[in-house]
Order: sequence, then structure tokens, then C-alpha cells
Amino acid sequence: MLDVCLMGCGGSIPKPDRWLTSALMRYGGETLIIDCGEGTQLAMKEAGFVAGKIGLILLTHFHADHVSGLPGMLLSMANEGRTDPVTIAGPKGCGRIVSSLCVIAQGLPFQIVIYEFPNGGGELPTEYLPVNNNAGDPMKVTAYPARHSMPCFGYKVSIPRRGKFDPVRAKEKDIPVKLWGTLQRGDTVELDGKVYTPDMVMGESRRGLVVSYVTDTRPTPEIVEAVRGSDLLICEGMFGSDKAERAKKSRHMTAPEAAAIARDAEVGELWLTHYSPSLPDPAESTEEARRIFPKTEAGFDGKHVLLRFED
Ligand SMILES: [Zn+2]
Ligand SMILES: [Zn+2]
Repeated sequence: MLDVCLMGCGGSIPKPDRWLTSALMRYGGETLIIDCGEGTQLAMKEAGFVAGKIGLILLTHFHADHVSGLPGMLLSMANEGRTDPVTIAGPKGCGRIVSSLCVIAQGLPFQIVIYEFPNGGGELPTEYLPVNNNAGDPMKVTAYPARHSMPCFGYKVSIPRRGKFDPVRAKEKDIPVKLWGTLQRGDTVELDGKVYTPDMVMGESRRGLVVSYVTDTRPTPEIVEAVRGSDLLICEGMFGSDKAERAKKSRHMTAPEAAAIARDAEVGELWLTHYSPSLPDPAESTEEARRIFPKTEAGFDGKHVLLRFED
């Protein structure tokens, strides 16, 4: 099961009734958040999550509405007793940005580990994943380039799902019963000079869960490919189609443009987010988007879903 919560859904500046865009995912005892604008620590509290559990913070880019909440968030995490290391990952320059912001958040009781993705994006190496991940198969985090006014990444979080244990195969291969449990947990065992690997007893891997997060970008064919088949796409719908020119100029996108990505990438569901402060109510632009991709929903602060594996 993967918990997903859109903690805030505003772009540029927070408003009294709209926190800045930030998403949270919780899986197997660890929590990750994507982006941390001003006030995200409060948005998180309002949504009912615990900052001390955050093991991974992914930053799309370094505009203030995506990073300026970091010092407060880190202090909140410390206040809630976090001592395990925390990874902060983002585009090149992430280390410099984080250490500048940390000048006003000194004496943290946990280590901050920085990972800077190469310009072309790629997969977050496993050693940077949250340490308390106890759900079996570790999650996979992939960054892919967006097209904004500064280097920016979209993120895909995938939860793989291993195959089912196959006792018939285990018997056929004469695997001692006492090893079945270990192999089922995904560990390789050696016994009496023979090596037993999990693939000897496990069936084909099953469909897992995928959530993609895309904001502060023009639509591109590369983004469509990167988010293809996601169960949930959280994507900026900063403007309605009446502001299409403004979206182009500021390197953002409209709700219908987000819907076209969702349709072309055949995702399960689309949540719109990162609304312009000039868009008081996203109902109209969501309606426009629904005409292109019917499974579009307007994001709102605290919007939450529990995604479950197919079987
Ligand atoms: Zn933004
Ligand atoms: Zn931006």
C-alpha cells in the first residue's frame, strides 16, 4: 500500500487557504516528500503526517515556492526526534542551496545526505533511499528533465511487486523447506556448498504502483514517456486555457495541457496542482481538462489516496 497526499496545491506564493505545492508519499514505515515551499511543515501537520518520519526530500528545482520551507521543516523534524539520516536530492546545485538554507537551521540531530542527479536525471542510487524501509522490495525513485526557466526535474516513485512464492517449483528443484522463508524474503542462501537464489522459488514479478509528480514545466514528449502508465499523475495545471500565452512565456502549463499528457501517457488518474494565485477556483480549468482526460481531479490541500496493489 502506498499513501499519497497532496499537502499543498499553490504555485508562486502561499495563500491563506492554499499552501504551496508539496506531495507526500508513505510506504513501509518511511515517508518522502517532494518539494518544500514556505509553510510545508504546517501543511503537513494539517494533513495529519509526522515530519520526524521523513527520510527523503526530493526537490524539483530551486525556486522559492519549492524550497524555502526547508529550514523550518528540518527543525520540525529535529523537534519530533528524528536522528536517522535524511537524504535531500535534486538537480545540480542542491548541496549549495541546502547548505545556504541550513545556515538558519543549525545543530540538527541528524545527518543530511545530498544527492545531485546528473543533468539528464536517472535513478536515485539505492544507498540514498530511506533507511527504515521495511516493506520488502525497496521503492525506486527516478528523475527526468522538465522544461522550466531553470533546471527542473519531474519524479517518478515506483513500488515494485515481487512474484508469488511457488511451492511446486521449490519442490521440483529440491530446495530444503527450511530455506523457503529466507528465499521468499528475497535473500540468497548458501547451504552445503550450494547457492539458492530467490528467483528459484518466486514467480514472475507482478504489477506494482507508480506515482509521478510533474510541475513547473512546459509539456514535452519526454515527460509523456517518463510518466507513461503511472497509476497517479500529480501535474501542474497552473492556468486555464485563457492564460495559455502566459503559461508558455513563464514555462508553466495549463490544465488542458496537463490533461493531454495524462491522456497520451495513459495514466490511471490525474490530480491538478500548482495553481496560480490568480486562479481562485480551479473548477473551471478542471472541467476543461476533463474534456481531454475524464479522470482528472482538482487537487486541494490534504487530498489523499491509499493506492493498493492489484491483488
Ligand atoms: Zn513553482
Ligand atoms: Zn519554478
